[in-house]
Amino acid sequence: MAYFDNNATTRPFPSVQSAYAEALRESWSNPSAPSRSSARVRAKLNSVREDLASSLGVSSDAITFTSGATEANNSIIAHAAYLAEPDSLALISSIEHPSVTESARHWFSDRVRTIPTEPSGLIDLDRFSDLLDQLPNLAIVCLMAANNETGVLQPWLEVAELCRKRGVRFHCDATQWVGKLPLSDLAVCSSLTASAHKFGGSKGVGFLASEEPHPFVFGGRQENGRRGGTENYPGIEAMSVAWHWVNDRLPELPQRSSWRDSFEETMLENFPDMRILGFDSSRLWNTSTFVMPEFENLRYVGKLDKLGFEVSTGSACSSGLSQHSSIPLVMGFSEAETKRLIRVSSYVDQTEEDWQALASAFEQAGEELGREASDSSIISL
Ligand code: PMP
Repeated sequence: MAYFDNNATTRPFPSVQSAYAEALRESWSNPSAPSRSSARVRAKLNSVREDLASSLGVSSDAITFTSGATEANNSIIAHAAYLAEPDSLALISSIEHPSVTESARHWFSDRVRTIPTEPSGLIDLDRFSDLLDQLPNLAIVCLMAANNETGVLQPWLEVAELCRKRGVRFHCDATQWVGKLPLSDLAVCSSLTASAHKFGGSKGVGFLASEEPHPFVFGGRQENGRRGGTENYPGIEAMSVAWHWVNDRLPELPQRSSWRDSFEETMLENFPDMRILGFDSSRLWNTSTFVMPEFENLRYVGKLDKLGFEVSTGSACSSGLSQHSSIPLVMGFSEAETKRLIRVSSYVDQTEEDWQALASAFEQAGEELGREASDSSIISL
């Protein structure tokens, strides 16, 4: 099976699988207990923390291990709401992940304002700058680094700078960026989140990087009193192994955008009316999201699955739950077009040949769907 749904999750690298198994076997002690074996686990945990912090350019106290990006995003927004004055606002982009959008709505209710998105998939930076001038009492600004559905890279660095100049807290959901693009500059964000299963680690582990101390899970003194609960050391160790593996390869990975570009070229030859989201914008090297000219996306997903290719109809957070994402809509696509939306996303395992084979599989699937449609119209005559 050629797996092209890496923005949903990645296969844990083989070295991650063995590190995880070894940590489960050898380092299962509770890191907070007083025994020597616990002290060893505690020391290892803190060494992963220091290591992550130094790659990001933040202090090791800034790193809080979490169960992933959803928890980390929720916690930072809850924290901003807790500190906020009653009339202060949250300003978030219109393309955020639900873990940002829904927690902002929960905590700030009608005090959420939105940064509009252009048809290119990029936020409207001029409009953002105006909003920053017009909205006096901002508790938090949220913009993701790279969009999970389109791969479009957002101007988060510019937004971080504008926020810094005005002393506004800026949170960046870097879940799709970390493990695909260089980490330099991410430390300018007031806080950022990442998730191990997006870069070859295991599920249920991630981190929040924030210099501001903010307790968010109560009932234990773990994680400097910020997040109570026994740490998932095997998962954290596995994340560290994934982090090193992928960071060593970061300089070469973006060059793989040419494989994606050739795929899109072939697709456009075969399906000239297909529309690619964010085609003219800088995108993650691994992502291509498009609206097929005809046939509902799930029909393509089914055909491709039989041909040995796993692709997606959009974000896993919405597709499996048959909830359509609003991201194509804010980019100007119609409700009908979202039903023909397909996302393909590679990672380290997929080769140039896999991309080409995927384009051929789409061609075959399109032919089969076309034949089935004409057969059924003959039958109905
Ligand atoms: N933010 C973004 C941009 C994501 O793509 C995802 C995962 N789809 C999340 C947050 C949530 O991550 P997790 O699965 O670690 O909770």
